[in-house]
Amino acid sequence: MKFQRPSFLYPLFSEITLIPGIGPKTFKLLENKIGKNVIDLLFHLPHTVIKRFDNLDLKHCPTNSIITKKILITKHISNFYNSNRPFKLLGSCENIGIEIIFFNYKGQYIEKNFPVNSTVIVSGKINWFNERVKFINPDYIYDVNHSNNIPKFEPIYPLTAGINNKLLRKSIRHAITLIPSNLPEWIPNKIIKENNWPSFEQALRFIHIPNSTIEVDKRISCLQRLSFDEAFANQLGMQIYQRKYQVLNVNKIKCKSKYFNKCLKSLSFNLTNSQNECIEDLYSDLCSKTQMKRILQGDVGSGKTIVALAAILNVIENSKQAAFMAPTELLSNQHYNFIKKITKGLNISVALLTAKIDKEERIFILNQIARGHIDIVIGTHSLISDKVTFNNLGIAVIDEQHKFGVVQRSKVLAKGENVHLLLLTATPIPRSLSMTIYGDLDLSEIKEKPKNRKKIITKILPLEKYEKVKMAISRALENKEKVYWVCPVLEETEKIDLVSLNNRFKILTKSFSKFNPSLAHGKMDNDEREKSIESFFNNESKILIASTVIEVGIDIPDATIIIIENAERFGLAQLHQLRGRVGRSSLQSYCILMYGKNISDVGKLRLKTMRDTDDGFFIAEKDLELRGPGEVFGTRQSGEIEFKLLPFIDREKLILAKDLAINVVSRNNLNFEHEVLVSLFNKDEYIKLIS
Ligand code: ADP
Ligand code: MG
Repeated sequence: MKFQRPSFLYPLFSEITLIPGIGPKTFKLLENKIGKNVIDLLFHLPHTVIKRFDNLDLKHCPTNSIITKKILITKHISNFYNSNRPFKLLGSCENIGIEIIFFNYKGQYIEKNFPVNSTVIVSGKINWFNERVKFINPDYIYDVNHSNNIPKFEPIYPLTAGINNKLLRKSIRHAITLIPSNLPEWIPNKIIKENNWPSFEQALRFIHIPNSTIEVDKRISCLQRLSFDEAFANQLGMQIYQRKYQVLNVNKIKCKSKYFNKCLKSLSFNLTNSQNECIEDLYSDLCSKTQMKRILQGDVGSGKTIVALAAILNVIENSKQAAFMAPTELLSNQHYNFIKKITKGLNISVALLTAKIDKEERIFILNQIARGHIDIVIGTHSLISDKVTFNNLGIAVIDEQHKFGVVQRSKVLAKGENVHLLLLTATPIPRSLSMTIYGDLDLSEIKEKPKNRKKIITKILPLEKYEKVKMAISRALENKEKVYWVCPVLEETEKIDLVSLNNRFKILTKSFSKFNPSLAHGKMDNDEREKSIESFFNNESKILIASTVIEVGIDIPDATIIIIENAERFGLAQLHQLRGRVGRSSLQSYCILMYGKNISDVGKLRLKTMRDTDDGFFIAEKDLELRGPGEVFGTRQSGEIEFKLLPFIDREKLILAKDLAINVVSRNNLNFEHEVLVSLFNKDEYIKLIS
């Protein structure tokens, strides 16, 4: 089956610099947050649409609603002599007193254009105050003859620093004109009719530039349609991919577990039942004639590494090699040390391959791998570089798999023939999404944590309670335990955040100089950062002040407190990952969530959810629900087939999309319209892979 992106879609895959008004600077900002192609802009959907003229009588309009009203101006209160004060227009509307207040207003434009006794039209958010209505810096004000200047429907987009709604609206308006007019329909007619869905182009139009209340009200239907398109496109892509790369027959492996049993004896703990059950799943895959394609999900600290090792050692016992890939140097090192240690009594060789290994040693290791003298290779992305060839790769394990993409996964598999694939993840995928993302991967879950673990106690405190937190830290440090302090550093507000991270570092260094606090964040030099984390690991430093760089997989069992500053700025899934850095031994651990003054109601709900549950699946579901459009950044998973549009469809529709895709691909019915669909939703890298 041959696949290619039809050329008439090229305008949608051109860079957005093609759009008037998007220069290099704006491009950079948009590229980071939204994407670099026209299509990415089209898939950046508004979270609401303001209907500016959809008003009740003024007396029924609540505080904070956005309304548009005609107002008779009765008085000006000038700020001519003191421009620190606001300029005010007083007036009345529907027998209610009105104040229109302009902060930071200089000049005479308003005085001139809206004199006393004139009628103006004002649109903006209102506030009730002593039975009067205030508009503070209204969005629009015109004299009543120019009410047409106020847009009737105004989409509001998730924003990022430097980008405003006006720019997005204008650019997207242009982007819409680039959609080819002759797009075919890929959803079967029957489904379109049953759901009363608009066409793809229409759906985008109604969502981005609604022209009537009817169009605004079709929003949900439009979102469902696009969501279905996305699911269908992903399923088609996955089916094409599988057809191309499917391994039909692998050599069976005998699971004698001689090696693994020997390792178990050297451990200071017993495996949990749940770990044993997962190991059974892996063994039955290895012993069958089909390729293992399994994802092992287990909360942070549930002990996934040892489970993966069980499979690895059996593959090695059958004279094959294993690759174990992790997203960071630190994590690779950790795995290397752990595996090296517990396989000490076995006659096998383990190697570490990361970008940091020097050239001579690297050449030696590469040579040894190619000749089959190395049994387990542990490493970062370096493992999939073209220079690495295996003699006989039997299994690939990918840790923290959500940090990698389909393309990288496929590259590891391509390092051998009939390679078994095991993916490890601590991030539970909401059930509604897992099928769409993972297609036919089998799932094993480690449901229980090691027995000696105590439940982490989570507390919520305002930032002002620093003294209280300081006492808790002191206690832990005196007990020879260690402390993480995490501050948010988000790209949008990076400069300010780094200042506050550094300030926190200073404050803590002052309070706890004896414990030698260390600092780690993403903007530091790699070596410097790793040194910092290592000194925390080695006990030279007892407090680590960090950004979310510590989120992934670090295992430091004697760290017992994690303080998360401005916790309201993190997504739930991320908070859950961070909290998992503690509670990794028999010691009682604490997670302290500190919030700032500007916490929103949804933010509060998120923190309460964290306090009240440690069920990763529940948290993942809530994360989607409580994300709040545009409120939390940095939760997008990198690498994975990304969902551009949040799924607005239910499980039944997801299954329908999957069935349709299977049907199309298995019957060799991949037509032009399917090529168009798959091309619209998938990245270039992926398209290349399936072409
Ligand atoms: P994760 O699932 O987060 O990758 P790890 O595999 O890193 O977890 O395991 C976390 C820690 O728990 C490690 O120090 C590991 O040796 C230990 N561990 C694993 N299984 C058990 C067990 N059954 N009982 C006690 N400790 C365990
Ligand atoms: Mg791990």
